[in-house]
Amino acid sequence: MPDEVTLLGAGCTGPLLGLLLARRGHHVTVYERRPDARRVPLPAGRSINLALAARGISALERAGLMPVLEPILVPMAGRRIHVGRAATAFLPYGQRHEERLWSVGRAPLSNALVTAAEEAGVTFRFRHACRGADFERGIVHVENLEDGRVETCGMDPVIGADGAGSSLRDAMVAAGLAAAHEDPLDHAYRELSIPPAADGGPRLEPDALHIWPRGGFMLIALPNADHSFTATLFLARTGPGASFESLGDPAAARDWFNSEFGDAIEHMPDFDAEFSANPVGHLGTLFVDRWHVDGKALLIGDAAHAIVPFHGQGLNCAFEDCMRLDAVLEQQGDWSGAFAGFEATRREDTRAIARMALENYVEMRDTVRDPRFALQKELSLALERRHPGRFVPRYSMVMFHAELPYSVAERRGAIQQRILDEATTTATRLEAIDWERVDAEVRDRLAPLPAAGQ
Ligand SMILES: Cc1cc2nc3c(=O)[nH]c(=O)nc-3n(C[C@H](O)[C@H](O)[C@H](O)COP(=O)(O)OP(=O)(O)OC[C@H]3O[C@@H](n4cnc5c(N)ncnc54)[C@H](O)[C@@H]3O)c2cc1C
Repeated sequence: MPDEVTLLGAGCTGPLLGLLLARRGHHVTVYERRPDARRVPLPAGRSINLALAARGISALERAGLMPVLEPILVPMAGRRIHVGRAATAFLPYGQRHEERLWSVGRAPLSNALVTAAEEAGVTFRFRHACRGADFERGIVHVENLEDGRVETCGMDPVIGADGAGSSLRDAMVAAGLAAAHEDPLDHAYRELSIPPAADGGPRLEPDALHIWPRGGFMLIALPNADHSFTATLFLARTGPGASFESLGDPAAARDWFNSEFGDAIEHMPDFDAEFSANPVGHLGTLFVDRWHVDGKALLIGDAAHAIVPFHGQGLNCAFEDCMRLDAVLEQQGDWSGAFAGFEATRREDTRAIARMALENYVEMRDTVRDPRFALQKELSLALERRHPGRFVPRYSMVMFHAELPYSVAERRGAIQQRILDEATTTATRLEAIDWERVDAEVRDRLAPLPAAGQ
């Protein structure tokens, strides 16, 4: 018997999950509070593009969506590090051609997923916001934002893909069915843009993620399909040093940007207007002790486990959630068992990526400038060549090994880091590495990785 599934949120997780559930024969209605972005452009300034890696791509491939998405994906082969005004270095993401990331516009991705889900039979009701839920009566309250009327929908079941500020999660917490807390980051972000050059071409190297690491803060820029770039400044929220608070005045912000990111601001003709108008976005890690209420309700994606964006994995992880729930549903006949099974299999992995995402912030803004870090990166790539399938850099395990659980990547990464630390205690060049010792350590301490599919 098909069930009437109520899905909250049509970001990217909601439409992908809706499509998978519709293919299982369920009747799915998605309620989304914003307008349909295929018809009404969304306001600028909120994370316009994102990087997809193997986990996200693998989910889209398995859902059969790559043919429609490929035209909107921009490949990135590595990080272009802007050290000073003119000095840059290129750090490839991996050693194999396929070890690339894909920059994609959030709106085009969401729009394409919504259209694919509609074609699979999913109904979307835009400008409808969830306003609460009564778990005893099994109903969800949804407000039509056009006329203010509140409707009730069933929980047969309801799934909250309504993001970090999830209303379904709030309702679970209010009913005493879950506890949630957030570790806010003391840094926030603001988006800026780098338009195409006058001849329509890109102003920066187009197939790289650009990073201006500056220790306590950083700027990054991701390419868009139209040759523009979306830049994001990550900076302390408050404080007397450089912070969003202390740079409130656009003239002060421009002076500071000129001294810190001179080779970026020269490509930002709209800097003053954007720095004043674009919102400062909040960042944090969310912990929710329970993601489901029997077979009635489930949280998924950011609603269950929002993380900081420094590993570029939030959406990749949410897409992995969708595939895992689909796989659990394949084995488990009832929603209750499937939700419990989903939560049990995802908890450890989502905790692991939350920790690794926080660590990656320090790496991106700081250690990429450190010569020992550069040596360790070089050494990890050399060890990967010497021990293929056994020593795989943690970054690669997270980004390019879709079959490997995050928690395994984290555990193996810790062992590998100890090997790298020991090997670079005295050596300052690759030629000075004691290969015999390091090779023995790798063989002793790391089992071969399971082959894909095992
Ligand atoms: C600056 C930044 C950069 C990032 N970069 C990356 C990256 O490179 N790679 C990556 O994988 N991830 C990245 N992320 C993380 C990624 O954006 C999130 O993990 C992802 O968007 C989560 O998807 P979601 O569908 O679960 O939630 P969302 O994308 O937040 O979607 C939730 C949807 O629910 C709707 N909604 C909210 N409340 C209600 C309600 N009450 N009723 C109805 N609808 C509602 C919202 O309007 C929205 O459309 C980044 C995040 C940030 C902040």
